[in-house]
Amino acid sequence: MRLKNLEINGFKSFAKKTVLEFQHPVVSIVGPNGSGKSNVVEALRFVLGEQSMKSMRGSQGADLIFKGSKNLPKSSRASVTIYFDNSDNVFKLSNETGENLNLNYDVISISREVFSDGLNKYILNGSEVRLKDINNLLSSVNIGSSGHHIISQGEADRILNASPKDRREMVEDALGLKIYQYKIKEAGRKLERTANNMKEVSLLRRENAPHLNFLRKQVDKFEKAKEMQVSLLSLYNEYLKKESIYLENEKQNLSNEKNKIVAELESIKDKIESVEEENIIESEKEKQLKDLERKVNEIRHVKGEIERKLGRIEGMIEMEERREKKAPAIVVKNPEEIKAIFDEIAEEIEVAIVEENVSEIKFILLRIKDVLQKFNQTEEKTENHSINSEILELKNDQQRILSEMQNITNEENKIFESIQVLRGQIREEKEILHTKEKERFNFRVRNQELTSHLEIISVKEYNLSKQQESFENELREGSILIGNDILNYKNFEASLEVDRGLQEELKRKIERIKIKLEDVGLGGGADVLKEYEEVSQRDSFLAKEMEDLAKSIESLRLLIADLKEKIDIEFKEGIKKINIEFSKFFSLMFGGGEGYLSVVTENKKKKNNEESFETTRDDSGESDIIFEQGIEINVTLPHKKVKELNALSGGERSLTSIALLFAMSQVNPPPFLVLDETDAALDEANSRKYGDMLEKLSHHSQLVVVTHNRETMSRAGILYGVTVGADGASKLLSVKLDEAKAIAK
Ligand code: ATP
Repeated sequence: MRLKNLEINGFKSFAKKTVLEFQHPVVSIVGPNGSGKSNVVEALRFVLGEQSMKSMRGSQGADLIFKGSKNLPKSSRASVTIYFDNSDNVFKLSNETGENLNLNYDVISISREVFSDGLNKYILNGSEVRLKDINNLLSSVNIGSSGHHIISQGEADRILNASPKDRREMVEDALGLKIYQYKIKEAGRKLERTANNMKEVSLLRRENAPHLNFLRKQVDKFEKAKEMQVSLLSLYNEYLKKESIYLENEKQNLSNEKNKIVAELESIKDKIESVEEENIIESEKEKQLKDLERKVNEIRHVKGEIERKLGRIEGMIEMEERREKKAPAIVVKNPEEIKAIFDEIAEEIEVAIVEENVSEIKFILLRIKDVLQKFNQTEEKTENHSINSEILELKNDQQRILSEMQNITNEENKIFESIQVLRGQIREEKEILHTKEKERFNFRVRNQELTSHLEIISVKEYNLSKQQESFENELREGSILIGNDILNYKNFEASLEVDRGLQEELKRKIERIKIKLEDVGLGGGADVLKEYEEVSQRDSFLAKEMEDLAKSIESLRLLIADLKEKIDIEFKEGIKKINIEFSKFFSLMFGGGEGYLSVVTENKKKKNNEESFETTRDDSGESDIIFEQGIEINVTLPHKKVKELNALSGGERSLTSIALLFAMSQVNPPPFLVLDETDAALDEANSRKYGDMLEKLSHHSQLVVVTHNRETMSRAGILYGVTVGADGASKLLSVKLDEAKAIAK
């Protein structure tokens, strides 16, 4: 890596494009006062990213732009480009993760432009980049931003004037430790960002936690409900299958029973009807019997009539016969005759009592009168023959009446026989009727039985229909709780024998689960599950992120600790090395004496600075004090007792500064070193020593020296003369040593 060219355009006094080439290890810039030499050094500072306007002798960006002269207009912008040979590929750019990326360019060009409004542009090999990229890139080749390698005019003793802390920074920069500091800062910023991210993430998680908990509980409930559903389903399978079998059996049994009863009822009704029909045929025979009995009565009546006639005739015959024997005698009635008359009267009266016919009764009464008259009559028969004929006649009558009697009695006997037969027949009929009556009674009883049985069956049917209804209700309720899986019960294997007790037991279990399930509720379960998954996934994601963040915090802390340790070690080693070189250069310059650096620690109240991430570890008040390491310069001049820097003369200060600067450059040579009249205060002897040191340094670093010192000029390989042209702008020209020496005068 080598400094190649510097192109200045519109910067300060350089109105036109001016190119400096650094083809030799020592390039010297010479020229009269005010020609613009220091402007070249500032152009270098500028292009390397200098942010201090003061160190470029300006107060704002516009001050850096050519302001115009009598003959030249002012520039609209100042632009400086620096070219480095990068054929050895040492330029690196570290990315966000701290990895160093090689820049595969043979030539690295860095441009910086400033516009009159103060806007700055940084361009790396033609692409606009950020300032921090430029810093990042330059630190990779040990060109630090502290500018320790560019010593401006009047700054020869700058490192002596600096505070211990700034000195430490310069030393760190010179030792190439800035890159680590830069990495520490980066890591610190990252740490802070990460810590903020963690806070945000943990806040998010805290915010989510109640919702997540709520959802988790819901999901637990839902899962429990699911388990309940599973057991409910298996209970239902068994219960519903058995219940359906039971209902089917019951239905079948009832319908069989009913059919049987209905059939029997039908037949019984037919039978009852037929029995009643038979009953209607009221016995003809009884009518006949009544007729016959009436006839008997009539015959009796007629017989009575006949008997009375017969009696009368017999009486008359007896009377005639007695008259025949005892005529004319007074007929004296003996007791037998009186009794016969009384008997006859009594008999007539008997007949009259039962007789309904009035004319018949009259007839009987006439006959009774006749008997009574005859009883009072005392007749005298005078002529026997007339009596005999009368007897004969009477006996004929008697005979006739007797035969009449015989006939009628025969008839009566016949009727009696018929009555006897009829009665027998009627009895038989009645017996048959009675049996039928009994039968009908039995049928009626059976009919009654069957009807009430039928009623029982219809009650049973009603009950069964209720059971069927509750089965269907169960199915419906089950399907609400379980869904269509409920219909799986049809595939359940169950025996045809259903134990109602066990069914009741099952039903109770089902009811218990149903109550629990309804209590827990299944509504929106799927949604809750989905939401829970989303929220918990997000939470897991956040938890993972927390983990990652914690890991990255841990690794950043480790990185920072590593870097600090590295800085610490390299710093201490660097100080040792610098001290060796410093004391050499010091005694060389002063012809004796001693110069060395010591590391001091000073307490400092901590402000809210960029290292605040450290305070997050410990918030105790003590952490507000931080210990800063600084560098103290200790000198002992030969033959002098003075040790305080303040007491040194201007020259001595310069010499000490140069010795230290060169010692630093020796330990870790920067790619180039710019020295603007650093040799101004040196006497001739020291100028030579200075020239020797320059040559020594030039083995490792390119040197750009602005000087009026001839000794210094004589050590340069290339000499540029800067003059102010007629147009009022700085002009650059290559000069020979003699010319240069002439210019310097
Ligand atoms: P010396 O030897 O005295 O240190 P020098 O050669 O280093 O002088 P510089 O300090 O580089 O001179 O140049 C200063 C000159 O540059 C001044 O004359 C100043 O007017 C001029 N200058 C500074 N800024 C501008 C600008 N923006 N536009 C034009 N000229 C400027």
